[in-house]
Amino acid sequence: MIDDDKPHEECGVFGAWNVADAAAIAALGLHALQHRGQEATGIVSHDGVRFHSHKGLGLVGDNFGDAKVMAGLPGPRAIGHNRYATTGDTVLRNVQPLFAEFEFGGFAVGHNGNLTNAHTLRRALTRRGCLFQSTMDSEVFVHLIAISLYSTVVDRLIDALKQVTGAYSLVALTNEQLIGVRDPLGVRPLILGRLPGADGKAGWVLASETCALDIVGAEFVRDVEPGEIVLVDDAGVQSVKPFGPQKPRFCVFEYIYFARPDSVMEGTPVYNARKRIGAQLALETPVEADVVVPVPDSGVPAAMGFAEAARISFELGIIRNHYVGRTFIEPTDQIRHLGVRLKHSANRAIIEGKRVVLVDDSIVRGTTSQKIVEMVRQAGAREVHMRIAGPPTTHSCFYGIDTPERGKLLAARNSVEEMARLIGVESLAFISIDGLYKALGKPGRDAAQPAFCDACFTGDYPIPVPDHSEAGEPRLSLLAELG
Ligand code: SF4
Repeated sequence: MIDDDKPHEECGVFGAWNVADAAAIAALGLHALQHRGQEATGIVSHDGVRFHSHKGLGLVGDNFGDAKVMAGLPGPRAIGHNRYATTGDTVLRNVQPLFAEFEFGGFAVGHNGNLTNAHTLRRALTRRGCLFQSTMDSEVFVHLIAISLYSTVVDRLIDALKQVTGAYSLVALTNEQLIGVRDPLGVRPLILGRLPGADGKAGWVLASETCALDIVGAEFVRDVEPGEIVLVDDAGVQSVKPFGPQKPRFCVFEYIYFARPDSVMEGTPVYNARKRIGAQLALETPVEADVVVPVPDSGVPAAMGFAEAARISFELGIIRNHYVGRTFIEPTDQIRHLGVRLKHSANRAIIEGKRVVLVDDSIVRGTTSQKIVEMVRQAGAREVHMRIAGPPTTHSCFYGIDTPERGKLLAARNSVEEMARLIGVESLAFISIDGLYKALGKPGRDAAQPAFCDACFTGDYPIPVPDHSEAGEPRLSLLAELG
């Protein structure tokens, strides 16, 4: 597998209520959310009487492109999930949505995020006799709901939510309702949209990002609020807020890298945010150069903003090959070092003899940056400067983003000057944390009241991480338990 040395989003979720061919709508929505997880995908539909499910490893198109499969997912209600594994192996039993039969009926759930006390809860639940079917943290929700002493589904769900810590956006489907939940700090995104209903009544959609509404022609209604549970049924949408008010801490990395650029997050178009971040980066880290070149694709809007603000010409000096499968097998050690060139190649006509500013969104281990710089030099660049549209990634994420443990993060072990030397550039600079906030319309990071989760840049974790040490490793007692 190609290591593209980027943090990875864990998952994308989608739900549809009272729409014709809900499973087909869910498949389209998941296709638009494919960037949030490519390892596996699943849809559970409900036809008014029964639940139906199909899950598979791989991409949405590989699993839901077959008419026979779609015919097996009838009904006007469905939820779906794209998986990128941060906990649990990628095997079929770990593919969501999870489904369980309770005394109140069937319950399907899909989860984007990460529960920071999942191991502790799992241990406690196992001791109480709960039998886990998967290694996913999300299954904890199912057992907590099953053993809750409350009678209604919603009260059981609230009971479960009050026992978990972490970042999560959930979509769930019961016989009677489509349910959407966002964690109390709203770290992970979830939005509500509307579609014409199957029977003249309103149809409703829940999704991780607005790009999933656009593909199915749904109208954006609003963000699900941090700490809110939305209950969708034929009577409309009800809102329940079981947690006390807290200052939201939306994931700032969604703006920098994870979200699709045509999505709108918390009222801000991601594309515009990235251009503003690039412009701020240019103001903070000026450089004499001939050409601004983005590391595609995610570095493109920031590079455009940088080039505009710095008045340096913007050119596509690196071309990305979009047809490299995630499972492309590099057959021998001899050619493994060429890995990055399967994905990126330098456009010599643009680069040769020039002083190049490469703009990227992040440096994680630094391995890809190193190879890209080498490639640009081999294409004849006179100087290579690197500018990064996020502050140095110094800490691991425990909230649903796959980052290496802290010791493997280049910025956790090296100064900016050392990183520049290792990557092989004439200069390296990152946007400041205050500059990032400013580009996103906030006055600057106020340590007492930060507007975002920015823990991977600051180490200021807004949600406790009881199952992990600060170095990003499971705590010792847990390691012993897991063997
Ligand atoms: S730690 Fe970083 S990637 Fe994780 S939720 Fe916070 S800002 Fe996002």
